[in-house]
Amino acid sequence: MALYSETVMDHFLHPRNVGVIEDADGVGEVGNAKCGDIMKMYLKIENGIIVDVKFETFGCASAIASSSMATEMIKGKPVVEAMLLTNKAVAEALDGLPAHKMHCSVLAEEAIQAALEDYERRKAE
Ligand SMILES: [Zn+2]
Repeated sequence: MALYSETVMDHFLHPRNVGVIEDADGVGEVGNAKCGDIMKMYLKIENGIIVDVKFETFGCASAIASSSMATEMIKGKPVVEAMLLTNKAVAEALDGLPAHKMHCSVLAEEAIQAALEDYERRKAE
């Protein structure tokens, strides 16, 4: 049996929304020590809608696939909806991740949360 689903492989080999948003409204960076993944998430938000999202991930296949899928899931969505995105939903959208790689999808959830918190912080200023 293959370790990764076809969807994971597809997002790993052809990640969506890779890059940087120079004038991002929210930026979040998180990492995990377990496999050394670092994920940086950029959000462009207009009228409470995530109009653009980009990410840079230095990490394992699961981390890259998770961030790619997560960006696809929140793009064009209201901020309130993105806040509710869970790593479980990301992993399900990827047709599953190996159990010992679930922490990599947690990173995607945390990166989005961190970027949204950054956005809220900037807005409050
Ligand atoms: Zn990882």
